Amino acid sequence: MQNLTATRVLIPGVIGPYDAHVNLADHWNGYARPLFTLDTVRKIAADTQALTDECSFDDVITAHVIDGDSGRAGHHRAVVLVVNWQWWDADGDAKKVTDIIKPTVDGLYGIGGGNWGWEFHTWDCRCKTKNPWHITVCQCGQPRSMQDAAPKGMIATRVCVDGPTTYPAFVVDHARYGERVTPYFTLDTVRQLAADTQASAAQRDPRSAETIHVLETAPDAAGERGVIVVHADWFAEHDYTPAEAVSVVAPDQNGLYAIGRDGWHWRIAWWWCTNCRTDNAWHADQCSTCGHARNTQPAETN
Ligand SMILES: [Zn+2]
Ligand SMILES: [Zn+2]
Repeated sequence: MQNLTATRVLIPGVIGPYDAHVNLADHWNGYARPLFTLDTVRKIAADTQALTDECSFDDVITAHVIDGDSGRAGHHRAVVLVVNWQWWDADGDAKKVTDIIKPTVDGLYGIGGGNWGWEFHTWDCRCKTKNPWHITVCQCGQPRSMQDAAPKGMIATRVCVDGPTTYPAFVVDHARYGERVTPYFTLDTVRQLAADTQASAAQRDPRSAETIHVLETAPDAAGERGVIVVHADWFAEHDYTPAEAVSVVAPDQNGLYAIGRDGWHWRIAWWWCTNCRTDNAWHADQCSTCGHARNTQPAETN
């Protein structure tokens, strides 16, 4: 799937959003030309056919999946059709209004590209920026995956121990700027912490370092991997035993990992108000001192 980006597309107010793959360089009059899996094409077929309940066939284009069997080659056989009903009266021919959609080499189907007004589904960052679905990290640093559903009683923010590196994390919603916090990280962020702690240990005295490691099995038939997150304290290994130096960090009920909850001095990261020169918690939308809105500031976060 070279040059394809996973995203979501929709025709606003009509159908979607659907998971799709796009070549970002390939568009039509500003609209996306998305490719879909056969399963997604089935959803588009159901949704476009349902539109005919609400409007006349002259106003809709319908998609159809006609399933065959597996055939001699053992591959599932399916015919995908798109019917452009709106052209029927002008062209007067079922053949002329019907497109047979052939799959790409990746088994994806281009439905409506160059004809339908496919737009990217967007997600709203808490900084008020609207991002296309495939932009997974907003320019303000907040990842898309942390926008939806912060666990109950928690907020999405960024945290740091010391130095300039900050990480996206959930913390309790009453945590105040400047306090020590216990951050909860997604597995993606744990992978980043693993890379960063190991890189930093390599540069300093490794015997005094603490490192994070993500152990993974090969994917099973469903593509899922078994994951164990390990925290190694090399200082303890030096003074005691390896068994005392290593601990497993189990995910909580939300699948989040509290890395360094006991020993690391995690604090909420901050942004600096250029108006009144005070520091504010990273997730504060307005300056706590002067009320200046964060999104009017130059992107100067720590
Ligand atoms: Zn943002
Ligand atoms: Zn201020």
